[in-house]
Order: sequence, then structure tokens, then C-alpha cells
Amino acid sequence: MIHGTGKNNIDIHLGTEITQVDPARKIAVAKAGESFTYDKLLLATGGISFVPPIKGVPASGVFSLRTIDDANAIKERAKKQKDWCLSAAAFWGLKQAMVCENWA
Ligand SMILES: Cc1cc2nc3c(=O)[nH]c(=O)nc-3n(C[C@H](O)[C@H](O)[C@H](O)COP(=O)(O)OP(=O)(O)OC[C@H]3O[C@@H](n4cnc5c(N)ncnc54)[C@H](O)[C@@H]3O)c2cc1C
Repeated sequence: MIHGTGKNNIDIHLGTEITQVDPARKIAVAKAGESFTYDKLLLATGGISFVPPIKGVPASGVFSLRTIDDANAIKERAKKQKDWCLSAAAFWGLKQAMVCENWA
């Protein structure tokens, strides 16, 4: 979470998960109980990647890519496996295919 009070009006609170917002009082509350007042609140929580529940998709051997752990899991699998199937491949999917080809 980033909160604007410190140097350059920016404080970074790593690992601080906001679980509650009180817009009337302009307060954001963290899971651990700490609260932060604000003038303006920007919710920029990003996205998540997931394997869609498509019938027939096996429980293992199917990957999505967002975190370094995801990348390491793909890399480990790519060392053992030569054939890949890319679903919904846009720019990053195609780039990943190129990388897997080099790892295999
Ligand atoms: C493998 C990969 C490579 C990429 N490479 C590029 C690239 O080369 N160039 C490019 O332009 N884009 C790239 N992207 C896309 C880029 O990373 C995203 O578009 C960008 O990070 C989105 O920014 P964001 O701020 O919306 O979300 P995020 O970067 O996801 O940031 C959201 C943050 O909010 C935090 N958060 C979530 N919920 C809470 C909560 N309740 N309380 C407090 N904090 C919370 C999360 O922990 C996270 O730190 C890549 C993405 C991936 C997955």
C-alpha cells in the first residue's frame, strides 16, 4: 500500500493489506488493524491470473503466468516436456512459447 505523508508525500507500506474502507470518514483499515486517513483514495489492486474452469482441462500441468513462482513452475516443467499448448495467447503468451522452446 502507498500512503502520501512521507518524503515526496509518499510512504510505502509493503505487505500491508487493506481489508476495509470507510468512505464517509475517509479511512482505510489494514488487516493488522492499522488505519490510514486519506483525502483521495485510488483502488489499484491489479489483477489475478487463473486457469478457467474449462471442461476437460486437467488439474495439473496447466499454468498461468503472473508471479515469479509461476515462472519457476513453468520453467521446471519445460525442462521435462517438449510439447506445449497455448490457450488465449496474446503477446506474452507467444513470448512465453518462445522461451519454453529454448528451455526444452
Ligand atoms: C509476467 C508479466 C510480465 C509483464 N511485463 C510487462 C512489461 O514488460 N511491460 C508492461 O508495460 N507491462 C508488463 N506486464 C503487465 C504489468 O505488470 C501490469 O499491467 C501492471 O503491473 C498493472 O499494474 P497495476 O498497478 O494495475 O497492478 P499490479 O502491478 O498488480 O499492482 C497491484 C498491487 O496492489 C496490491 N494489492 C492488491 N490488493 C490489495 C489490498 N487489499 N491491500 C493492499 N494492496 C493490495 C498487490 O499486492 C499489488 O502490489 C507484465 C505482467 C506480467 C504478469
